[in-house]
Amino acid sequence: MAYNFDTQRVRAGYEPEGHKYAVSPPIYATASFDFRDVENSRNLFNFSEAGFLYSRIGNPTVAVLEERVAALDGASGAIALASGMAAITYAIFNVAEGGGRILTSPYLYGGSSDPFRKIFPRFGISFDFAKNIGNPELLEKEITPETKAIFVESISNPNTTLLDIDAIAAVAHKHGIPLIVDNTVATPYLYRPIEHGADIVVYSATKGLTGHGNIIAGLITESGKFDWKSGKFPVFSEKYYTLRDKEGTPRSYLDVFPQIPFTTKVRLDYLNYFGAALSPFDAYLAILGIETLSERLAKQSANALKLAEYLAANKRVSFVRYPGLEKSPDYALYKRDYPNGAGGLLAFGFDGTDEQKEKFLNAIELFHFHVNIGDARSLIVNSPQTTHGELNAEQQAEADIPANLIRISAGLEDISDLTADLEQAFAKAFN
Ligand SMILES: *Cc1c(COP(=O)(O)O)cnc(C)c1O
Repeated sequence: MAYNFDTQRVRAGYEPEGHKYAVSPPIYATASFDFRDVENSRNLFNFSEAGFLYSRIGNPTVAVLEERVAALDGASGAIALASGMAAITYAIFNVAEGGGRILTSPYLYGGSSDPFRKIFPRFGISFDFAKNIGNPELLEKEITPETKAIFVESISNPNTTLLDIDAIAAVAHKHGIPLIVDNTVATPYLYRPIEHGADIVVYSATKGLTGHGNIIAGLITESGKFDWKSGKFPVFSEKYYTLRDKEGTPRSYLDVFPQIPFTTKVRLDYLNYFGAALSPFDAYLAILGIETLSERLAKQSANALKLAEYLAANKRVSFVRYPGLEKSPDYALYKRDYPNGAGGLLAFGFDGTDEQKEKFLNAIELFHFHVNIGDARSLIVNSPQTTHGELNAEQQAEADIPANLIRISAGLEDISDLTADLEQAFAKAFN
């Protein structure tokens, strides 16, 4: 029976039976797993039996996290990794093996856009920062024969831009390429990209998905619906000896794992050989965090909306970016696609000198001042100088990150304590 979202976030991927009837998923702190016998060892290597071999490529605690997030995303499969950056890197390598181009949104996390410009090209993968990400008809003209995928963020970090993912997915599919969505800020509670046409979803599970600011983790999920046989992605149809059947005949990822070719190839090629494995301890903390995903995101969305309204009415604020505000340019998309709220992230323009802005940040008492997001505690940061400090002035302008932007990630505190903290910091900055 298919349970609903709130049941799945506490139950999916785990049955006490088979785990000594432990109600809470155990932490399997083991590097390796005994073979039952020689036949079992043979079966594991020809994929005729499922099981665990070695914790770099699979671990029962990590598997609970993978299955749980796959269920929440409506995905055919998932793979957990040691960080969000590992998830992004492996997803990009996996889709553009041998080189190619990725068409990407200009509205990205700084840790993504910097290596997209600087490091991936050294591996033969170049990124085109779309001029028309908000206009799918024009976006189509930016796809070249070398384009291997489109990469976007559902709610962008830091300026909370929303995109018409359904329309972008349609454009991608018309050209036989997959759409990869970084759904870190939204989490599956607010937005399930696969339901809107995405083929691959990546997460920093460090952020709101797990929500307590106590681990670094990442995930990739896949829809299981993309057609990898078009000719653009030969590695999925190529026969490998490592995927051989019982008779020793080489097989392809699509032969052996037709429902989960993408995440399995990430597991057996990239996780296996590049090695960014998630520890079972961190997987356990992630599972625990996801148990309260819905309540956290609902409260954070409510707090963020009130903070956005407070800031919009403040004469020391030149703009507020929050899709849940009626005058936001993204309000129509928000109403269409985000029935559960607009999330905890918002940004505003500080209307004062740099010196006043620094006084304001130094005067903040309750908000934490650092680079994370999605924590149970509220966070504030001057993104252009920190989280997006890799970008030069021109790149920040392209990414729509004005120099006076301040990013807030709303936590679970009492809203009047949060607004009072901003109020006293504004007062100190301007007296
Ligand atoms: C933080 C973040 C990442 C990177 O994740 P890590 O877990 O820190 O490696 C990727 N994308 C977005 C949108 C993020 O906010």
